[in-house]
Order: sequence, then structure tokens, then C-alpha cells
Amino acid sequence: MVDKPQLILKPGREKSLLRRHPWIFSGAVAEIRSDPLPGATVEILAATGEFLAQAAYSPQSQIRARVWSWDRNQAVDADFFHRRLERAIQARAGLEAESNAYRLVHAESDSLPGVVIDKYGDLVVLQCLSWGAERWKDVISDEVERLLSPKILFERSDAEVRKLEGLAVRSGFIRGELSESRIQISEHDLKFSVDVAAGHKTGFYLDQRKNRRTSRDLAINREVLDCFSYTGGFAANVLKGGAKSVTLIEDSANALELARENISLNNLDVEVSEFINGDAFQVLRRFRDEARKFDMIVLDPPKFAPSKAQVERAARGYKDINLLAFKLLRPGGLLLTFSCSGGVDTALFQKIVAGAALDAGVEARILRRLSQGPDHPVGLNFPEGEYLKGLVIEI
Ligand code: SAH
Repeated sequence: MVDKPQLILKPGREKSLLRRHPWIFSGAVAEIRSDPLPGATVEILAATGEFLAQAAYSPQSQIRARVWSWDRNQAVDADFFHRRLERAIQARAGLEAESNAYRLVHAESDSLPGVVIDKYGDLVVLQCLSWGAERWKDVISDEVERLLSPKILFERSDAEVRKLEGLAVRSGFIRGELSESRIQISEHDLKFSVDVAAGHKTGFYLDQRKNRRTSRDLAINREVLDCFSYTGGFAANVLKGGAKSVTLIEDSANALELARENISLNNLDVEVSEFINGDAFQVLRRFRDEARKFDMIVLDPPKFAPSKAQVERAARGYKDINLLAFKLLRPGGLLLTFSCSGGVDTALFQKIVAGAALDAGVEARILRRLSQGPDHPVGLNFPEGEYLKGLVIEI
């Protein structure tokens, strides 16, 4: 057997691996032996020569390798991927009762770094985000077919993070074909039209499923503002829950058009729905100047801080929109406010929102804390997997 290429760490840099954190940063690497190809499986050794893990090599990324296995004797092969996928799929079995669309594989937190797999009914979307995932893409596709027999397997390897790996972006059908990329999914008792080719992420914000349902339970008789609405996930839920009206703000015209379709698709009242295509920061200011008021506001903005480096700017963005939202709420009103920024943790987010309430001159309390759904688990060795946090606040 040919020896595997090896990455030897600098002295003392094995600590995070001993805690089973799955990333090896470029700065921790002292030496690379046997010139591995991108995506190749390499052995990670401490400076002392002690074996630590087997990992996928990424020559260009700051994250130089991602761990596949902590076991030196584990073969990283088709059978390995079969078993990891099978375990992830089985863990989601209970979700089918609430939706036919959910995440099947959440990368590092399912012990498959760089691999994201989402299910939309008969259609499965695969996203390869690292060299390791790229190297095994065909094997992973075959094993997904074997385990799930989806009608369609679609690839959405077009996320920005691929560029950090030096990988080109790619999207398209791997198996099967559709004349158009729109499909219909059901979430609880609502239907949504999803564009898996052109939509955000893999088409739908699956991580917010539980929180959309929560919004429904709180919406009765309220005038609701759904800010950063995307395709109307929250808007449809609050209407279903008996909201008096809903105003959607979204800067993507396509997403907003789909939101309108999704509201009609569920026989909900388009007449009480107002669709505003524009920049939420500006529209919120205009509403403040016009003294418009709402009984419930959802703020689900895009990622302002993908990493720690952008935290300050992100904090200003969150403060700004939350402050405006507090000003638009009637007494007794509810704010459902979210952050999906990895760089902003729960404690900091709460502090920002508290600062916004203070500046808006409202007294507020947290009724519930929200997070990503159970199909987006967080590996205890991988705190980075926890990114979505939300608060239900009453003033
Ligand atoms: N709540 C949605 C997901 C929202 S994602 C759901 O449950 O499906 C964030 C959305 O904000 C995206 O659709 C994006 O197009 C939109 N967006 C980004 N910047 C914006 C801005 N400045 N103003 C309005 N919408 C914006």
C-alpha cells in the first residue's frame, strides 16, 4: 500500500484537533509530505509524530484540511460515505411529518465537512463547498441515489465560499431533468414554490421552518411587517395564523414575485398583502417618518457578518434595523428578530437588540429564544455550526 501524504503540525498546534475540532488552519502546518493533490485524503500528525486524524487537503484555503475521520484505519471510500450519509438521513426520519423539504446533511455537524444536502420532496440538492467534497462528488451522488432514489439530483455548488477554495462555481442537473427548476414543497400545511436553480442557498431557507411556524401561532389579529421576506415564508404563515394584514419588504423582485404566488397558492388573502420591492433600511426609515405602526414585525436579514472580521459593521446594521422596528411597533407588539451571522454570537446579538430597544425608548422582554431547526444540528466539537439565532420580543 502506498503511504498517504501527511501534514505535520507545528509544535502545540494539535490542541484543537485533540478536542476534535475538524479544521486544520494553514498557520498550524509545519510541513506537507508527498505532495497531495487537492481533495486528497492526508494524515494529520502532531509535531511529535503522533497520528491525529485523516483529512481532506485544500491547498488554497486558509482551512488547509478538514477532518474525515479520527481513526487511522478507517478507509475513506464509497462505503465510508454510504455510512455517514445513511446515519444523517436516518436522523431526519421524524421530520417528514412536518415537511417534505429539509436538510439531510449539515456538513461538519454531520461529520461530512463541505457537504450540504437538502431534500425537496423527490428532488435532492447537493452542494460541495470544499476540495474534499469536490473530490468525492461522484461517489456521494451515487450513494445518495442508492439511499434515496430521488427523481432528480441537482447540484448547487455555486456558493461564494468555493472561491476561497479556488474552486469554480457550478450548478446543474446531476441526474434526471426538469423542464423548469421550480418545484412545489409542503411545509406543515402550507405549500411553497421553490426555485432550486436560481433561489438563494439551495432554494429555500429550510433553517427557519420551525420559526415560521412559531410566527403563525403569534399572529392572530395582528398587522404584520415581514422584513427581508424572500419568497414569503413568514408572510404566508402569519396570514394562515389569522393576521389582519401583512406587508412584505424584499429587494429581490423575483423573490417577491414568488412570495405573491406562494400566498395565492395557499388561498390566502392577497388583498390584505402589501408587496414592497426595495431596500429594507430605506423603507423602514420611510415608515418611521410616516409614523406607520404594526403589531408584529419579523426581521430576518441576510448574513451581515460571515466571520468575526465584519462584526462591527454587522452590529451597526442589526442595531439600525432593530431600532427602527421598535419604533414601528405598537405597545404590546411583537418583534421576531434574527441573525444568521456566524460572526455574531447569541450573547452579542441580544446585547445589540437590547441597545436598540434602549435607544428607541421602549421597555422590552424576551418571550422566546429561537434557533435553526434540528435538521441543522450543531456538532459539540464544532461551535461554528451554530449560526442562526432569534428572539421573540414583546414591548
Ligand atoms: N425570511 C425568509 C428568508 C430571508 S433571507 C424566509 O423565511 O424564507 C434574507 C432576504 O433579504 C433575502 O431574500 C434577500 O434578497 C433580502 N435582502 C437582502 N438585503 C436586503 C435589503 N437591503 N432590503 C431588503 N431585502 C434584502
